[in-house]
Amino acid sequence: MATKTGLYAPKPMAAPLPEPRVLPAPLQELPAGLSYRMEPVTGHGPYREFVHPGRYVVLIDGQSPWATARPEECLDTTGQGVWIADDAVLVCLSCGLDCT
Ligand SMILES: [Zn+2]
Repeated sequence: MATKTGLYAPKPMAAPLPEPRVLPAPLQELPAGLSYRMEPVTGHGPYREFVHPGRYVVLIDGQSPWATARPEECLDTTGQGVWIADDAVLVCLSCGLDCT
């Protein structure tokens, strides 16, 4: 059996690319009464838009007053948020995802 050479020689396997490193967004200090639900968010809205690692849902007095339980289930596609707590934090009005 002939060994393939030149153009037809099998190429050596390339080393796998390293995982891209995305540093989590720094947590901002929240005003009194607000806190983060420290659960990772894998996407936002019906199109699963990218959510930067380190972005969390904002809770008010430890509760989630948002209509949607999780950003992954959010139906808001407007891309608009609402500023809460004297314009300290920008959140999705439907799910409470911090978009500041
Ligand atoms: Zn949302």
